Amino acid sequence: MTKVLYPGSFDPITKGHMNIINQALELFDEVVVAVLPNPAKKSMFTIEERMSLVQQIYKDNPKVTVVTSNSASVDIAEAHNCKSIIRGLRGLSDYDYEVQIAQTNKEISNGKVNTICLFADKEYQFLSSSIVKEVFRINKDISKYVTPEVIKAMQDKNN
Ligand code: ADP
Repeated sequence: MTKVLYPGSFDPITKGHMNIINQALELFDEVVVAVLPNPAKKSMFTIEERMSLVQQIYKDNPKVTVVTSNSASVDIAEAHNCKSIIRGLRGLSDYDYEVQIAQTNKEISNGKVNTICLFADKEYQFLSSSIVKEVFRINKDISKYVTPEVIKAMQDKNN
């Protein structure tokens, strides 16, 4: 049984994240989505709200599980028996950051945890949670980017 960890802030989960999860499901038996705090960014949703959105979207798919933790990604990976971490690459702008994190994670896990990068399909290449929040803020349609449960959660937040 092969399990992989997909860590991120998922604030909120987008169809870009879902595209990466769907690709990972073709390669692994289980994808453990780790919804993590990101102190560097002000978030729209609490960790519990972000986890709940991922859980609602994958409620009928037992191969996707959702966790959170304050530990390092490599420790979360080991705790859940994941030999590797997946990350999504949108383009060159993600590359520098992702390669640094991947190499650091390999080092601090004493060579145990590798990172696998997957490329989003082209329609999601420019999609990020930040873009979704920005398009929503200017009252434009976000249904191409996120699922109905996320739209509802964003509308509820706004009220
Ligand atoms: P964001 O950059 O949207 O704030 P997260 O921290 O939640 O993202 O991202 C988790 C992982 O998913 C990262 O590896 C990020 O590059 C990747 N990711 C996010 N959106 C996309 C997308 N549209 N296509 C491919 N990968 C993505």
